Amino acid sequence: MKITNVEVLVLKSPGLYRSPEADEEAVGPTYMGLVKVSTDAGITGWSDMETSAPVAKAAVEAPRWSEPGMECFDGLASLLDGENPLEVERLWYKMYRGSIYYGRRGVAMQAISAIDIALWDICGKFYGQPVCTLMGARWRESVRAYASTLFRPTPEGMRLAAARYLDAGFTAVKFGWGVFGEDPRRDVELVTAARQALGDRHDLLVDAGWFVDRTPKQAIAVAESLAPYRPFFIEELLNPEDYDGYRRVAEAVNTPIACGEQESTEWGFRELIERARVDVLQPDLTRCGGLTVARKIVHMAERANVLVIPHSWSSDLLTAASLHLNAFQRRAVLVEFNTASGPLSRTLCKDPLRLSDGCLRVPDAPGLGVEVDQAIVDRYRIA
Ligand code: MG
Repeated sequence: MKITNVEVLVLKSPGLYRSPEADEEAVGPTYMGLVKVSTDAGITGWSDMETSAPVAKAAVEAPRWSEPGMECFDGLASLLDGENPLEVERLWYKMYRGSIYYGRRGVAMQAISAIDIALWDICGKFYGQPVCTLMGARWRESVRAYASTLFRPTPEGMRLAAARYLDAGFTAVKFGWGVFGEDPRRDVELVTAARQALGDRHDLLVDAGWFVDRTPKQAIAVAESLAPYRPFFIEELLNPEDYDGYRRVAEAVNTPIACGEQESTEWGFRELIERARVDVLQPDLTRCGGLTVARKIVHMAERANVLVIPHSWSSDLLTAASLHLNAFQRRAVLVEFNTASGPLSRTLCKDPLRLSDGCLRVPDAPGLGVEVDQAIVDRYRIA
């Protein structure tokens, strides 16, 4: 089997991204990049990616630019042409090495991540096995899901929203971004309202939004102000570059500290484990380097007694990939379920993933186990 084509499709949602008011739901991503890898065996692999899709498209579809044998400036697709897609680990390194002068991190790594997921999807379809089984473990058939949504601007809006997620069957809810961080007193009122609506038996998670640009001491104050409401974790209290700040916060408070959706590569996650000493790693599979890197992150995290709860706020493609990573790790605790209402989140795949007893089933069909709906791709594709 040989790779015959790698392309990026750019989709645009008709419902533009916006923060919700009161009991509305967030719309979700406006733009989405889809990676499609084709083979001469007729097997196709897919992944979405949350990045600047036009820039990623350029990185993937750029021509060869290096002297043969000195690949370091090349378009990612050119590096994969004619390769065996089953050699995921070697191809990961070939893409990393072949784009290193313009890559290593950022959009090049996000494109590599999505291609890597699509290659795993192909491997699964080729061998007739779900991705987690190919990775080496299917510890569980389902994973508890948390509803992932944005802060509502009023306590009443928070109560209504929290009650709605409980009605939908969730046992854990994360509120993030929105107005959080603008006014510390209101922040506490909003979290108090969410905790009251969720009661004692359900989990409340908080994404504090790193762009608020807190100092470590301010972050510690936020964590202490929310501690009475027992957040399962508090996410991204600091700028993603502030490894030493994270360490000060994580050592100062009892609430678990989470971050990592902006982080990439096994080397970046080693910094989060060894230097930042956070409690929960949140690799986004379409940014961290894909499943090939995420598998290494899980191994490092297991050794270091750190939890891995992958970030996934996109479509069912990414949620499915995250379910496979959760099935693969011994200590999986939660999968993030983006509750946004927009069509790119809800309808990109046929047979959308559905909650059952507060959990999502790990797909058992070959590959990622979800099927992209070509009609939806055609409807929303702009490039
Ligand atoms: Mg976040």
